[in-house]
Amino acid sequence: MRMEEYVAASGDTYKSIARAARVGIRELVDANPQRPADEPLRAGELLYVPAGPAHRRMYIVQPGDSLTGIAEWLGCADRRLRELNPQLPAGADPAPGTRIALPTPAGRIVMPSSIYGPDRVAADLKRLVSAFPFIKTATIGSSVMGKPILAAGIGDGPFRWHLNASLHANEWITSLIAMRFLEDYGRACRRKTQIGGFDAAELYRRTTLWVVPMVNPDGVELVQEGLRPDHPLAARIGRWNRGSASFRNWKANARGVDLNDQFPAGWEEERRRRGVPGPAPRDYSGDAPLSEPEAAALAAFTEAQSFDAVIALHTQGEEIYWNYGGLEPPESKIWAHRLGLASGYRPIALTGSDAGYKDWFIAKYRRPGFTVEAGCGRNPLPLSAFEDVYDDCLRLLTEALDLSPG
Ligand SMILES: [Zn+2]
Repeated sequence: MRMEEYVAASGDTYKSIARAARVGIRELVDANPQRPADEPLRAGELLYVPAGPAHRRMYIVQPGDSLTGIAEWLGCADRRLRELNPQLPAGADPAPGTRIALPTPAGRIVMPSSIYGPDRVAADLKRLVSAFPFIKTATIGSSVMGKPILAAGIGDGPFRWHLNASLHANEWITSLIAMRFLEDYGRACRRKTQIGGFDAAELYRRTTLWVVPMVNPDGVELVQEGLRPDHPLAARIGRWNRGSASFRNWKANARGVDLNDQFPAGWEEERRRRGVPGPAPRDYSGDAPLSEPEAAALAAFTEAQSFDAVIALHTQGEEIYWNYGGLEPPESKIWAHRLGLASGYRPIALTGSDAGYKDWFIAKYRRPGFTVEAGCGRNPLPLSAFEDVYDDCLRLLTEALDLSPG
């Protein structure tokens, strides 16, 4: 791994340096075995910082970098970097700290887009399977509007992980994260390289991961494209959205039900607490637990697969919720701490929240279940945040796979 030297400034922490350099805290700790990790940094202290891997599409110019050096490292021409970064000073190297855009690696399948909806998920899954034929796909059910809810499986190990995304419509950037992870993991398995610092083939051998990248396709479509006049539920949805043309705050499915308040674990309690009497952009629990086809499909898939551990990917807050009413197994807390170290996110023991997917999973199976609130900002997170948030999640997800016993 390419290393940069970094002189610590007053107030620096591992976390602040890792953030600025866009690497994981653990990678940073590993890169500095010469000092105890728990000792505070002193100003002037020399640290080694891993340079970002080539999958990142932005790079912060480090002291001593030249454009030619960066281009060589990426295996592209200087000219290509200049084309992508017209803001750079002509004939001179960019100053340290400058953010530059990097060329997309050839053959990249999952590309961030402001309309990354159900059709794109379906098309990209097809392309992923053709590029990485060991990825399996399945349809686990369909949405209120009849859209398929798709799943993809990777790995043939005994420990069964599940990851789902976009239970909440305006958190759809999580679908991009899940899809990009499938692609990067698939590619690392094929090339027998590392992913997130772990040997991909080894993770593949130890675990099976089933991903449901978009649990709420109807809701995501509303957030991304608005309400089309020919939508069969246009009149009702428009009323539930109080006539607003913007669906930025829409979390629910097409019947105005919040899918993460639908699971039979304290459902009545959650319904009372939310106090939302009918269909709405968020927080309406529905008429009964699992009344909605999307939540029912996810529950049935979980039961059929008997997962050993699950992660529900949401935005935002950079937090990891790991408990539910003391029903979680002892390893939940330890794993949450490890996931936190890998991602920089904060493990949180939550009270006063019920009926979420992970709550139900923990209550029913007494196995580790996590809600990860990725990224920071206001939902929907802007696409400009994608690469940073993805980096956090990549490290969190590979750490999760590595935590699997056996
Ligand atoms: Zn959410």
